[in-house]
Amino acid sequence: MRSTTKRKKSKTSSNINTSSTHTSNLLRIPLETFLEICKYLTPVDLLSLSLVCKTFYIDLCCGDSITIQEIWRQSRLTYMPFREMGPPDGMNEREYIRFLIENKCYFCGSKTRVTRIYWERRVRSCIKCFKDNTVLEGIDNRVKLILQRPFLQNGSLSNRFWRDQVEAKYAELCSIDIKDQNEWIYEQYQLSNDLQREIAERRREDVLSRENQRSQRIQSISDKLDLMCEERDENGSEKYQRYLLERCPSLCKCYTYERPFSERGWKILRQKLIKEYPQAEQSSKYLMNDDTFDSDDVGYDSDEIHIDDMSDDSKIFFGSGSYRCMIQ
Ligand SMILES: [Zn+2]
Repeated sequence: MRSTTKRKKSKTSSNINTSSTHTSNLLRIPLETFLEICKYLTPVDLLSLSLVCKTFYIDLCCGDSITIQEIWRQSRLTYMPFREMGPPDGMNEREYIRFLIENKCYFCGSKTRVTRIYWERRVRSCIKCFKDNTVLEGIDNRVKLILQRPFLQNGSLSNRFWRDQVEAKYAELCSIDIKDQNEWIYEQYQLSNDLQREIAERRREDVLSRENQRSQRIQSISDKLDLMCEERDENGSEKYQRYLLERCPSLCKCYTYERPFSERGWKILRQKLIKEYPQAEQSSKYLMNDDTFDSDDVGYDSDEIHIDDMSDDSKIFFGSGSYRCMIQ
């Protein structure tokens, strides 16, 4: 950890963006005070702060001091519901939080594709890379016995195995004397069972955390829609009706994403809703004026996003079937 003296010195010597008064102030205060402030930051804020400049990075990310690890741990426990398990072996608190938060495929580096955590391989992966890096056939049965199969979105186990794990275990097996192989397989099997139990616990947290994120997202969108419905035109009339906004295709899709709903996300969604609103209004008028209209026929079939309408990534993300939007 840097001393207070070095911390102050680094302010003048590093390429810090001095346009931010807050950044400058944070660099001027003693390290102990800076760390005290950090105790109250969310994981996302901590990650962002650690990327502001070299000094903050060193203060928050370098070394495995108990104080620093405790800051990250407390932040996780306070601000990340259902993330009570500590980091897996080999990861410190900061790496663990980053792993949980950052939607980045370990293999291709994409941040725009939907990724999922595969605990048995301890990676985040998009579905394409998952398929590219797993194998279905040609696996030694003894190796199958001691390796974990990845879970699918619906909770069932995949028939695939990670290729590098298969190759590594098979090579290890072949390097063992034949007379000792059975004993080795038994030991590995026991270890595999222990790991499977841990993975099951982590997956349970994944599911709870995802559900929580989804409900928070829906609530955030709903709050924004409420505000939008309060807008008035020049005649003082409501510009938007909630039930018509709910019929806009972009809103339906937006409900299904699981990432946090940001201000930027709202700006984009709002523009789409404004564009789609006249069509929703038109469709509504058509239905109301149609003499053959039967209210029993007004289901919300059109409000269901069918798997065939989704991108490949989304299909995997939501599994087969259709995901019903939260139409009220
Ligand atoms: Zn990928």
